[in-house]
Amino acid sequence: MIIAIDGPAASGKSTIAKLISKKLEFEYLDTGALYRGVTYFIYINDLSLNNEDMVVDLIKKTKFSFNNNHLFINGNNVETEIRKNNISKLVSAVASTQYIRTILTEIERKIGHQAKNIIMDGRDIGTVVFPDAEVKIFLTASTRVRASRRYNELLKKNEIHTIEEIERDIIKRDEIDSKRATAPLVKSYDAIEVNTDNLNIEGVVEVILSIINKKIV
Ligand code: C5P
Repeated sequence: MIIAIDGPAASGKSTIAKLISKKLEFEYLDTGALYRGVTYFIYINDLSLNNEDMVVDLIKKTKFSFNNNHLFINGNNVETEIRKNNISKLVSAVASTQYIRTILTEIERKIGHQAKNIIMDGRDIGTVVFPDAEVKIFLTASTRVRASRRYNELLKKNEIHTIEEIERDIIKRDEIDSKRATAPLVKSYDAIEVNTDNLNIEGVVEVILSIINKKIV
């Protein structure tokens, strides 16, 4: 069974998907981590996206793996690096690049087909990667609420930014993600939208579990 959770930046998809995967004993794939990992690797190797052959070669030679929901690149834990704000600022441009999406979509489908039950979060899971997913959720919240949640998250990691700056970055990222030509961020016609403005984490998990239960029965 595949559960797809899509939605805009910082809408809480990963937090929620992780909790639900634990409760249901499903595997979990954070596809945003893959886009962040590729972005980070291109960045530290100082490559240009225009240099398609070199970038594709690099990605194909690189091992991306997960352990305890942390992304490892060639065996190194890069979880902290990929979550930093500088990578958040760069990732949407990388994710708009067709050849990058082709490679990552292939990896995501392979992981999905190998799993018995999996929950995947991202932007295009219910629309492009697995349009036949049994459950599709579109998680949203206002930009202010998302910015203030992300602000607190970064603060805990000693990354200090103003809420205004984070909100601007979120709006920009959503705009690039929604307007790109390939696999844009859009709610699938058959996805159920869950707005989390007035819900805490437990509340969101409860709503989504009840949607899943209705679909299963
Ligand atoms: O989910 P997260 O915010 O970590 O994703 C980072 C970025 O990766 C998104 O802003 C988007 O540009 C890209 N992404 C994507 N398709 C996915 C997952 C993430 O384009 N399925």
